[in-house]
Amino acid sequence: MLTCNRCGRPSDDFTCTLCRSVERERREDAEREERAREEDVEREERAWEVSRANAERAAEARFNPGDYNCPECLYRTLRKRASRCPMCHAAVGVEYWNLIEASEKEAAARAQAAAKAAKEQWDREAPARAQAARDAADRAAQAARHISERAARAAATKRNEAISDTFRVV
Ligand SMILES: [Zn+2]
Ligand SMILES: [Zn+2]
Repeated sequence: MLTCNRCGRPSDDFTCTLCRSVERERREDAEREERAREEDVEREERAWEVSRANAERAAEARFNPGDYNCPECLYRTLRKRASRCPMCHAAVGVEYWNLIEASEKEAAARAQAAAKAAKEQWDREAPARAQAARDAADRAAQAARHISERAARAAATKRNEAISDTFRVV
């Protein structure tokens, strides 16, 4: 019989089971605390990240409160057809808005043309699509027919075998 190095009680090892379990609990407590600390740090980092993103968005909105860019300071500060930039106070000419409007019209026309072309292509390909669907349905029906024929043949073979077995027995 040995004695425990820690408590001096008789033991079957250098450390007794009681001292070993006390030690294990101490280690587990320390690990739990460490994990909790790490989670706290992560939570703080996440909160900081969110508040930084919010601040950036707020700053972005403050410097870009409008729908259109000012041709002078280049921030997005202008409502449509505004005559003055609220940020840099530059006068915004009618020509600028005419230019904007023309390019908006062109973009809209282009988008409309693209949508029309896509629709036409879709319509043009409709017969081929319908044919492909019919072909797929035919193939599926054919496959189903093959399977049922094979099953019927297998059943017939089994029946014939059973009949010849019967004759053999007789
Ligand atoms: Zn002990
Ligand atoms: Zn401006």
